[in-house]
Amino acid sequence: MIAKIKELMYQPSSIRNIGICAHIDHGKTTLSDNLLAGAGMISEELAGDQRFLDFDEQEQARGITIDAANVSMVHNYHDEEYLINLIDTPGHVDFGGDVTRAMRAVDGAVVVVCAVEGIMPQTETVLRQALKEKVKPVLFINKVDRLINEVKLGPEELSRKFMDIILEANKLVRSMVPEDKKDEWNVDVSDGSVAFGSAYHNWAINVPMMQETGINFKDIIDYCNNDNQKELAQKVPLAEVLLGMVVEHLPSPEVSQQYRCPNIWDGDLESEAGQAMIHTSPDGPLAVMVTNVSVDKHAGEVATGRVYGGTVEQGTEVYLVGSRAKSRVQQVGVYFGPERVATEKVPAGNIVYITGAKGATAGETICSPENKIVEFEGLEHISEPVVTVA
Ligand code: GDP
Repeated sequence: MIAKIKELMYQPSSIRNIGICAHIDHGKTTLSDNLLAGAGMISEELAGDQRFLDFDEQEQARGITIDAANVSMVHNYHDEEYLINLIDTPGHVDFGGDVTRAMRAVDGAVVVVCAVEGIMPQTETVLRQALKEKVKPVLFINKVDRLINEVKLGPEELSRKFMDIILEANKLVRSMVPEDKKDEWNVDVSDGSVAFGSAYHNWAINVPMMQETGINFKDIIDYCNNDNQKELAQKVPLAEVLLGMVVEHLPSPEVSQQYRCPNIWDGDLESEAGQAMIHTSPDGPLAVMVTNVSVDKHAGEVATGRVYGGTVEQGTEVYLVGSRAKSRVQQVGVYFGPERVATEKVPAGNIVYITGAKGATAGETICSPENKIVEFEGLEHISEPVVTVA
């Protein structure tokens, strides 16, 4: 599997860098854990009740480093393998800054909305943040089991409730979407960019999957009422449906860097560095944006970021544009499940971790000392929910 990741990281069209964002308690953590388990990156028992976030004991027992903020998965979709990098986006408005950082590293977002509560103020905030960064959304309506078992909705009411949430989500998207993506980034039930399900009970479905399996709303209600969601989870597993939706509807770095780079980098797009970013080229000048720095008890400062152009290499000297300082990269690598795996190099389009880049902070631009580039735009954050639904 590690060999697979190392192979896929050189194929930008097979990479998806995504965030999961949600109003607090709508199920982001449950979804992330179950996606990882479903993709075979952690054991099923560890998902759900025991969370990654409480993983200290595991780390000690196995002598590994686990970073819940960044995880990766390999997913097979229509006989092709994809590398899916999932960056954690804190759900609370107080972490607005972190949400922005995470959005800078990704190209797509799974917006999780609780079916019972519907769209809430933080749903709007995270969606606004995503669209501002030109991050494309898809929608997952979660906790559908509760609408059936607690709220006792029938098939028509269920579908009406979903339509209301989708309409409201699209209203928000329309009011905040970048001009060049107008009418393109609405979520749409019929094309499968909206899924419904239960992260807790491990199942999800969208219209293409309904057509493929023949399962309809009435069947879903029956599975829930008959306490048989386990069987539903076998027929339409959460990870398969959600990751399929991600691969199908969210852009690869190769596609998204073409329109995202002009949005986040003020340098000359015709320059060698600009062209390397636009084309996700591993051969051009190095351009990395640091989105998070954590301190690890073994490795010291660990900077995580997105490689937009060129290749980061272990042992090389780099230049931190904001700090105007040179530094030597000790270790570079990627994520394998929740673990960090050192590799010699990490090319454009990937999420990289770097140790040894002393003094790097979130927002820092890293380039080569021989080919200095203009800084990436600063990370502003929107922490107040602004209610402006048209
Ligand atoms: P987060 O704050 O968005 O990360 O939300 P969590 O994943 O921590 O979920 C909040 C609560 O909702 C937890 O008690 C979960 O067990 C529960 N939950 C999450 N997804 C579902 C679901 O699909 N159905 C039900 N019934 N409960 C869920």
